[in-house]
Amino acid sequence: MSTKHVYFFGGGTADGDGKMKELLGGKGANLAEMSKIGIPVPPGFTITTEVCAAYYEQGKKIPEAAIPQIDECLKKVEATFGKKFGDTSDPLLVSVRSGAALSMPGMMNTILNLGLNDASVEGLAKKTGNPRFAYDSYRRLIDMFGSTAMGCEHEAFEHEIHTLKHEKKVQLDTDLSADDLKELVKRYKAVYKKHVKDDFPQDPKKQLMLAINAVFNSWNGKKAIEYRRIERITGLKGTAVNVQAMVFGNMGNSSGTGVAFTRDPNTGENVFYGDYLINAQGEDVVAGIRTPEPIAKLESEMPKVYKQLMDIREKLERHYKEMQDIEFTVQDGTLYMLQTRSGKRTGTAAVRIAVEMVKEKLIDETTAVKRVAPDSLNHLLLPQLDPKAKVKPVAQGIAASPGAASGMIVLSAEAAVEHVAKHPNDPIMLVRKETSPEDVAGMHLAKGILTSTGGKASHAAVVARGWGKPCVVGCEAMKIDEAKGTITIAGIAAKAGDFLTINGTTGDVMIGKVPTVAPTMTGDFATLMTWADKSRKLKIRTNADTPADAAKAREFGAEGIGLCRTEHMFFGEDRITAMREMILAESVEARAKALAKLLPFQKADFVGIFEAMDGFPVTIRLLDPPLHEFLPHDGKGQEEVAASLGLSVAKVKERVEELHEFNPMMGFRGCRLPVVFPEIGDMQVQAIIEAAIEVKKKGKSVLPEIMIPLVGMIEELTLLKKRAITVARDCMKKAGVEVEYQIGTMIELPRAALTADQIAEEAEFFSFGTNDLTQMTFGFSRDDIKGFMPTYLKEKILPVDPFQSIDVNGVGQLIDIGIQKGRASRKAKHNQHLKVGICGEHGGDPDSVVFCHKVGMDYVSCSPFRVPIARLAAAQAALGETKRDK
Ligand code: PEP
Ligand code: MG
Repeated sequence: MSTKHVYFFGGGTADGDGKMKELLGGKGANLAEMSKIGIPVPPGFTITTEVCAAYYEQGKKIPEAAIPQIDECLKKVEATFGKKFGDTSDPLLVSVRSGAALSMPGMMNTILNLGLNDASVEGLAKKTGNPRFAYDSYRRLIDMFGSTAMGCEHEAFEHEIHTLKHEKKVQLDTDLSADDLKELVKRYKAVYKKHVKDDFPQDPKKQLMLAINAVFNSWNGKKAIEYRRIERITGLKGTAVNVQAMVFGNMGNSSGTGVAFTRDPNTGENVFYGDYLINAQGEDVVAGIRTPEPIAKLESEMPKVYKQLMDIREKLERHYKEMQDIEFTVQDGTLYMLQTRSGKRTGTAAVRIAVEMVKEKLIDETTAVKRVAPDSLNHLLLPQLDPKAKVKPVAQGIAASPGAASGMIVLSAEAAVEHVAKHPNDPIMLVRKETSPEDVAGMHLAKGILTSTGGKASHAAVVARGWGKPCVVGCEAMKIDEAKGTITIAGIAAKAGDFLTINGTTGDVMIGKVPTVAPTMTGDFATLMTWADKSRKLKIRTNADTPADAAKAREFGAEGIGLCRTEHMFFGEDRITAMREMILAESVEARAKALAKLLPFQKADFVGIFEAMDGFPVTIRLLDPPLHEFLPHDGKGQEEVAASLGLSVAKVKERVEELHEFNPMMGFRGCRLPVVFPEIGDMQVQAIIEAAIEVKKKGKSVLPEIMIPLVGMIEELTLLKKRAITVARDCMKKAGVEVEYQIGTMIELPRAALTADQIAEEAEFFSFGTNDLTQMTFGFSRDDIKGFMPTYLKEKILPVDPFQSIDVNGVGQLIDIGIQKGRASRKAKHNQHLKVGICGEHGGDPDSVVFCHKVGMDYVSCSPFRVPIARLAAAQAALGETKRDK
C-alpha cells in the first residue's frame, strides 16, 4: 500500500485519531479525535508532518504522491459539507492552517476563505444574501494570501483600507458598505499584482496548493524558529497542514466566534472561561483588536448554543481527562468546534487542575504528578504584592497571568531587547496596545506585560501565561503614544523608563514601584508535593548560607543543606576588617590572631544554620574564592584599609598586586588556600565543630558535613582531612562532647572525576560542583560566556546553555565516571556507600535533575525557591516520565 499522506476528518468519522500528534500535529490529531467522538467539526483533512519534512528534502516541493490524496480528500469534504470548491453559486471555502506536534500559538501561517474568486464571490453574495460579507471575505483572502503566501506587505493592504475609510469618511471597517468593499477588493488586487507581478489566482486549486506551500514555509520562518528556540522545542519533523471547510462567524448577529478554556487557565478554577465576539471571524478574538465579551454572557445572548457548548465542555474533559482550550464558531445559529487541545495554563492553574481532577476521579495521583511541568511551579513561587504596601491602583485591566511585577516601561519589543542588552539587570515592563508573535523576544525579557486592548485569550495573555509571567491585558484606561515614548493611564502620565507595577492576579495597574513578597506553600500546592514525594528517590537539599534561607528552604521541603558557601560570612562590616588583617598578616601568629577574631562570627552563623535545619545534614564548604576578592582595588578603598589596620598604603597596594591573578577562576582558590594557609581551614573546622557541639548541648541533633572545594588530587584531600580531624578531635576533647561529622569533597575538576576512585578512599561524600566542572570541562569561563553563548545556541553548536542544564554528553560523562569509580572504591576499601549529590546551579534544573536520578545520585541541592521544582522533577524522573503537556 502506498504511504498515506493525507487524513480525512468530518461527519462523525476520521482517518486518524488523537494519538497521532506527531504525524498529524496537535490540531489535526484533535480534529480527528473530536470528529470521531461525535463533536460537530467542519469537515477537512490533514497533510502530515512527514510531507513537511519531504517538502524540505525535495527543495521546497510538495511530494507528487501527496497530490492525488489531497484531491481525493477534497472531494470527500465537498460531499460531506454539500458544497463544491470553486462553485460559482454556493462555493465551498476552506481554511489552511499550520499545526505542529507541539502548540506554537500564532507562530505559523493561516489563510482563510480560500476558494473565493471573482465569480464565486458573487455566488456567495447571492447565496447568503449578504454581499457585504462576501466581499469582506474576499478582501481578507487577498490580504492573507498575498501577505503570507506571496510575500506582499500586509501594511500595503492596510494602507488601502485606511485610505478608503478616509475617503468614505468612516471610522470602522464595519462602516464600509458592500460597494466600498468591492472597490477595496479591486485595490487589494492591484497591490497584489504590483508585488507578485501576476494576477491574484482565480483557480481555487492553485490557491490551495500555494497556501499549503506557504504553511510549510512558515515552519522555518523567523518567528517560528525564535519560538522553538525559547521554548526549547527540538526534534519535530515539521508542521502538518489542516485544510478545513470554512464556517463563518461574521454572517450577522446570529453568528459569532469564540475561544474558551474548560477551566480557568489562570487560577485553575473549575469554571468555563473564555471570550466571544458576535459577528466576527476567529482571528478577531485572539488578535486583541476588539475587546471581546466574557463567555458567560453568551448564555443570555444565544442560550441554545451556550447549553450545547457546556455539554461539549464536559464531554471533552471526560474524554481527554485534561483541561481543554477550544475554538468555536457559530454560523447562523449552528455551532461548530474548530479546535480542542490541552490548554496552556499558569503553574498555579496546573497544580489546582491536577489536584482537583484527582478529587473528581478523572485522573490518579501519579498522573497528576506527571502532568505539571516542574518549571511551571515558578508561578506559585512568584512574588505577590506586599500586603503591607500601600497600593494605589490607577486602573484595572483583565487579570491575564498572575503574580506581581514592577519594571521600567518600554513601549516596544525592540526597545525591550535594546534596553536589556545595555542594562541586563534592569527590570522592564513591556507596555503595548496589543502584542503579536513578532514581539516574543521582547516579551520574554520583560518582568511583566501590560496591554491596553485584548481579552483573556489575546496573544499577550496566552504567551505570558505559558511562561509564568505576570500580565494584565485590556487596560482600556491606558493610552500609549509610542512616538513620544509616553503613556497616560486614567489621565496620569508616565514615560518610557518610569516604573510601573502590575498585579496579574487582580488586574490592578499601579504607577511606580510597589514592594513584593515571597509566596508560601499551602493548599493544592502542598498536596501535589506530598504526592510527588511518594514517588521520588532523590533527596532534595538546598544551597543556603543564612538561617533565613535555610528556614525558607525547609518550608519548601528541603531535606538538608547541600551547599553552605562560607565566603559571604567574611564580608559583613563587622568581619571584613579581621579578614583583611588576616590576608595582610606577615606571620603565622599574626594570621592566627586575625582568624581568632573571625571565629566567633563563623561559629554563630553555623549555630543559626544548624538550628534552622533541625537535625538534617548540613554541608559546609570551606572558603573557596581567591583572597584578592576581599581587598579593595581602588586607591580610596586601599587608603581606608591601610588606615583601619594601621598599615602603610604602599603595603596594602603591594599585597593587592601580589594577589593579582590573570585567571582567578583557575588560580589560588578552593582547597589551595588552606593547603598554603592551613590556619584558615583550621579556624573554619573549629567554628563548625564548636557550633555543632553547642547545638547538640541544647539537645538538638546536628549532622555537619565538612566539604573541601576544588580538589584535583587525592594528596590535597589527604593533607586537609588529616588536619581537620585533628582540629575536630581537639574541639570535642575540650568540650567533652562528641559530635558526628563527615569530611567529603566537591568534584569540580575533570581530574577529580577521573581519579574519583583514589579520592573516594578519603572522601566520605562527593558533591558535584557542576558550575566549575562545566567551566573546567568546556574551558568556558563561567563569567565570560555572554559574548559567544547566544551565537552558540543560535547556531545549534550547543542545544542549551551548559551552565543552565547539564551537558549530558561531556560533563555528564565525567559525573558518571566519578560516581562509578568513587562508589566502587569506597565500597571496596571501607565497605561503605559513598553519598553523592550535586550542588551546582543544575541541581534546580528539571532536565538536570532527571539526569542526576539516572546516574544514581543520592540528592540534588538547589536554591530555596527551586526546591519544590526539584521535588517534582525528581518524582517525574522516578516515574520515568518527562514528557509533559505545557
Ligand atoms: C560549583 O562550582 O558548582 C559550585 C557549587 O561552587 P561555586 O559555584 O561556589 O564555585
Ligand atoms: Mg565551585
